[in-house]
Amino acid sequence: MTSRSFHPPLRTLMGPGPSDVHPRVLAALARPTIGHLDPEFVAMMDDMKGLLQYAFRTRNELTLPVSAPGSAGMETCFVNLVEPGDKVIVCQNGVFGGRMKENVERCGGIPVLVQDDWGMPVDPNKLEEALTAHPDARLVAFVHAETSTGACSDVATLTRLAHAKDCLVIVDAVTSLGGSPLEVDGWEVDAVYAGSQKCLSCIPGLSPVSFGPRALEAIKRRKTRCQSWFLDLSLVMSYWGGGTKRSYHHTAPINALYALHEALVMLREEGIENAWRRHRHLHEALKAGLEALGLSFLVPEPARLPQLNAVTIPEGVDDAAVRAALLERYGLEIGAGLGALAGKVWRIGLMGQSASPRNVLFCLAALEAVLAEQKAPIARGVAVEAAQRVLAASDR
Ligand SMILES: *Cc1c(COP(=O)(O)O)cnc(C)c1O
Repeated sequence: MTSRSFHPPLRTLMGPGPSDVHPRVLAALARPTIGHLDPEFVAMMDDMKGLLQYAFRTRNELTLPVSAPGSAGMETCFVNLVEPGDKVIVCQNGVFGGRMKENVERCGGIPVLVQDDWGMPVDPNKLEEALTAHPDARLVAFVHAETSTGACSDVATLTRLAHAKDCLVIVDAVTSLGGSPLEVDGWEVDAVYAGSQKCLSCIPGLSPVSFGPRALEAIKRRKTRCQSWFLDLSLVMSYWGGGTKRSYHHTAPINALYALHEALVMLREEGIENAWRRHRHLHEALKAGLEALGLSFLVPEPARLPQLNAVTIPEGVDDAAVRAALLERYGLEIGAGLGALAGKVWRIGLMGQSASPRNVLFCLAALEAVLAEQKAPIARGVAVEAAQRVLAASDR
């Protein structure tokens, strides 16, 4: 058999990531590849750093895209900040907190798990109790936007509690960056990692990270060598932080970085606060439509993420058949439940470019058609109109 070129079908991506990628970002990928030490490329990287600082709302010098997906950004934070024997409080309220715990263990650290129900935000009172019970803890780690459940935790409060007990914080902002308010300097976050393919609407495979002064100090004071060669920031900095005297560490994913640069330029053009407002507004429209259909949300209202809508699958409805029909008939991808929520919820993403009026109306109409076929107990003919009423309201 001879292989032929791969031509993917056109899809509308409304799952937990990747999100729709704008043609401008795809076009940037196709620009000529140049050397990763070419002065023109280096100038683009300097500009990218400023754009990432803008997106993270930070002045941290050590702000860069790790050349690998969000999971590698997570690992960068842990391998650089956790030394063998370090006690780390990990707050878990979904899948990604569990991965943080595993990272701590693999670094030789001692995790202390603080658990909340899936669908709830991290409870600051439980963190406070854990900090009191473990005065020897050095770090606190938690997820800002839990993509597995759609819950948003209060980074400012959790960070304040951690700092009061002299702990540094590691924050997972993979799904929050660009979609919900995140203030790295304003909230004094010490280390944060994100992803390219969620609310930044870039291709997957890059992980913006940022480290503040206290985290840098901790890295400098390390007694043991970082267990990862590739993610060791003291080595990565010889390339990213070198100014004019950059040296080879690894070959940067040059064209992928063009794409991230373009996505960040687009974020800057829109204005990050406008992007936050857009996500919120479109979530309100989607919510009105889903509730008109008769569907309900997993997460209590105040903690709901606009960019990740976990809705309960109605009794008797075949989860996989609905998702398959949406994909095959309408080219629409929504997310399945993860881990403990598999088969219980759908995760409808409104991330980055996917957060558009067109997608909201399309998703509601397609979901209604497929659910009606499944004889699900939904109200017909009202969802799209309910969303349109919100879209028409001038509170943007
Ligand atoms: C997607 C995601 C990750 C992992 O990112 P990858 O790019 O898939 O490696 C980590 N944390 C959260 C909260 C995520 O949503």
